[in-house]
Amino acid sequence: MNHTAEIISVGTELLLGNIANTDARDISTMLSELGINVYFHTVVGDNPERLKSAVAVARTRADIIITTGGLGPTYDDLTKETLAEAFGKKLVFDEAEARDIEEYFRTRLHSHAMTDNNYRQAMLPEGCVPFHNECGTAPGCAFEAEGVHVLMLPGPPSECIPMFRRCAMPYLRRLSELEIHSHNIYIFGLGESYVEDKLRPLMLRLKNPTLAPYALEGSVRLRVTAQAPTREEAEELMAPVIEEVRGTIGDYIYGIDTGSLEMTVSNLLRDRRLTIAAAESCTGGLFSKRITDIAGASEVFKGGAVTYATESKADILGVDRDTLQSLGPVSQEVAAQMARGARRVFHADLGVGITGIAGPGTDESGLPAGTVFIALASEEGTTVRSLHLGAQRDRVRIVAANHAFDMARRYLTGLPIE
Ligand code: ATP
Repeated sequence: MNHTAEIISVGTELLLGNIANTDARDISTMLSELGINVYFHTVVGDNPERLKSAVAVARTRADIIITTGGLGPTYDDLTKETLAEAFGKKLVFDEAEARDIEEYFRTRLHSHAMTDNNYRQAMLPEGCVPFHNECGTAPGCAFEAEGVHVLMLPGPPSECIPMFRRCAMPYLRRLSELEIHSHNIYIFGLGESYVEDKLRPLMLRLKNPTLAPYALEGSVRLRVTAQAPTREEAEELMAPVIEEVRGTIGDYIYGIDTGSLEMTVSNLLRDRRLTIAAAESCTGGLFSKRITDIAGASEVFKGGAVTYATESKADILGVDRDTLQSLGPVSQEVAAQMARGARRVFHADLGVGITGIAGPGTDESGLPAGTVFIALASEEGTTVRSLHLGAQRDRVRIVAANHAFDMARRYLTGLPIE
């Protein structure tokens, strides 16, 4: 059976915009891993009447209601009382939870000063499954009533998210006899709408597994999700779909379950015992940062130079001064010489050169913002990509670095680079 969950986030601070609803965001992500649909997030203040009406609506459209917040000891923490009443449950004193709260006060807060309202936190709906709170005092819980599963979690993300992982996920997994497994296919060089258009017939035909595209910054993630009694059976369902996607999208796929272009490039370099170096201008070291974010980068990355000023391109990388003068620092030829310079200066097998105008304004050359040239130099020669990436500075830099990694990936897998 397919389950549908609704998250009700309780807290006036959320409504006032004082805090962002990160609990709902993170719980939704985990629910989608479990294959549970989420169609609505509701936010309601610390007000029992409005919470009651939110619950009344939620139970008409979801069979799982998850609340966050309002489990604390203070007078405005009314979630448990309201939900228990809405589902005709009495609150009963849970001796074991009370002892745990005492223990938390003694060992973690170094205090015996528990007040009556702290003991109120140990009042839980009769017959519920308590969710012990390892990071705070308020226990959560889950119960089933009238065909709806109600799960209540504390508000602070440092308590809510670990409790969701440790207690709520196993509870929700038990609601289904089927296991849910997924694979992520990463694509670079095609837009989300193009990918969706190409795969729409397949997406419409599929029921299990399902296929869904998500736009990332400059790339696309396709998630294949299957439900089956065992992992093996889920894998059997997903394998032909992944093959069909490969057949349609081809070499724009840079990895399955790898996550990032730099990880793919780093693995390819390691497998082939090759090294890379970078000469960067408009990306300001982003290529080098991203490859060195990966542990063990020293095996594959020789070094990077951020040659931002025109004279630094000549002084450090040996870019020809006449070329810089005649063609300007943002040109195909300068990108090519930067890549060759990086390769030579750092004694690397591959050199990357990135020069461009990150924007938002143009520069004295008159080239539009977002003009970027990226070169890849190897022992076989140098290839340059000319790009127009728009005028959003951050995006230009991220996408430019993505292209540099993509060129390296294509070279390392024997694909055409341009
Ligand atoms: P406490 O025992 O701290 O009172 P509680 O379960 O009653 O816990 P709230 O009082 O509703 O939770 O919220 C406590 C704090 O947790 C808030 O001040 C806020 O910083 C954070 N918080 C609450 N709800 C959310 C949410 N949905 N997303 C992110 N942070 C939240």
